[in-house]
Amino acid sequence: MRFLNTYARLPETFFQRIDPDPVSTPSLIRLNRALAHRLDLDLPDDAAQLAEIFTGNRLLNGSEPIAQAYAGHQFGHFVPQLGDGRAHLLGEVVNNAGERFEIQLKGSGRTRFSRGGDGRSPLGPVLREYIVSEAMHALGIPTTRGLAMAATGETVHRETPLPGAVMTRVASSFVRVGTFEYFASRRMENELRLLADHVIDRLYPDVRGAANPYLALFQAVCERQARLMAKWMCVGFVHGVMNTDNTAVSGETIDYGPCAFIDEYDPGAVFSSIDHTGRYAFNQQPTIAAWNLACLGGCLIPLLGPDENTAHEAGEAVLEGFIPAFTRHYREQLCRKIGLPDSDTNFTLARGFLDLLRRARADFTNTFRALSRATEDPEPLRAALNDPEALAPWFADWNGALRDAGVADPGPAMRAANPALIPRTHRIEQAIRAAVEDNDSTPADRLIDALANPYEDRTEYADLAAPPQPHERVHQTFC
Ligand code: AMP
Ligand code: MG
Ligand code: MG
Repeated sequence: MRFLNTYARLPETFFQRIDPDPVSTPSLIRLNRALAHRLDLDLPDDAAQLAEIFTGNRLLNGSEPIAQAYAGHQFGHFVPQLGDGRAHLLGEVVNNAGERFEIQLKGSGRTRFSRGGDGRSPLGPVLREYIVSEAMHALGIPTTRGLAMAATGETVHRETPLPGAVMTRVASSFVRVGTFEYFASRRMENELRLLADHVIDRLYPDVRGAANPYLALFQAVCERQARLMAKWMCVGFVHGVMNTDNTAVSGETIDYGPCAFIDEYDPGAVFSSIDHTGRYAFNQQPTIAAWNLACLGGCLIPLLGPDENTAHEAGEAVLEGFIPAFTRHYREQLCRKIGLPDSDTNFTLARGFLDLLRRARADFTNTFRALSRATEDPEPLRAALNDPEALAPWFADWNGALRDAGVADPGPAMRAANPALIPRTHRIEQAIRAAVEDNDSTPADRLIDALANPYEDRTEYADLAAPPQPHERVHQTFC
């Protein structure tokens, strides 16, 4: 394992050098040992020492902590300076296989970018981020990951006094669309180019060989976002705050605030308490990704061509390919969810199934899972959709399509595409309440353990697979 600080080698305008602010009484809540192992991290066994490391009281050998500068469009409005107001990038590890990971603490104290904030995080949001990001990873969706959670022993004041915690997260890079906006809006072209070169080196080395590497970079970022959006749409994930500062150029999901997985299928679902207009509704996400990528394209103009017009046209052409690229990924993945090869007819059939779900307000996850068993036993599917008359013609078409495609037993492949378990909001909230109010982390631990294998049916986790009872339903999620 090697520890590097390549971002800290960039010009000082990219960040503030600042150490995490020590906390009074650190204690470890959870260490992701499998991830620590993947990183080849050399960690002490002792929980007290681990708590020192994962609150920022003690630095990893070789770490040069910084807070990264970025800007961003929040709900469509440009904010020229945001930046890590409560996060510290510790640096990056290169594991023995040569893979590179950045490690960041969140909730680790104030920085130059804190504006009015306290630089801290309550335990609840830390638990939520850890649970949901690790669930996303297990579902096969690119994401920042949870390496550790540690309590600070200090109180954080929100509407009420709350226990404080620090989240340690890992990503291939924490550069956001907003990082490009920070330099582009200041017309700092040198820095913009250095940032683009850094991102190419770290995330997109293949574009170096292209005739226009920066255009190829833009294309590659668009491609990864298109794939990511298709994956979100196929598991029912609603991010909730798709601001440009919450869009990583790596194509990893980042910033788990007021996010949620849908229970019943409602294409326009909104959960975020701060999303008053439904800008970031479930079915708006691909369009919003295109909007965010248009912001990135605008930033890259000075790098894209010999003159502004040529650059504009080249950028526009790439952007125009975004929705078609998303649709290709979505078509392929949605066809896979109904056990059929990628084709336009099968895509239409799959969307017909979504229509049945919508009309029945059926549970998105469990009804697809029931479909994955329906060739053996159609009863649970019938029960989930609660409308045998509407299902019958669709079911006949589906069986016909399976026959035509020569698919004898679609079950195993479908069960690898349709999870049995997702992090349901009511279960997350219950786990948070137990941890915060009763100092009991067993529900959170159990949820995290269950969600590590989301494609397996496990009777002992049947309660976690069930949709919320009416009184358990959570209608709003918070940052
Ligand atoms: P977010 O809504 O999580 O994307 O955060 C938006 C911006 O607010 C980022 O610049 C964060 O660093 C900053 N921020 C959020 N919470 C705090 C806090 N408690 N203290 C300081 N900065 C914060
Ligand atoms: Mg953010
Ligand atoms: Mg946030």
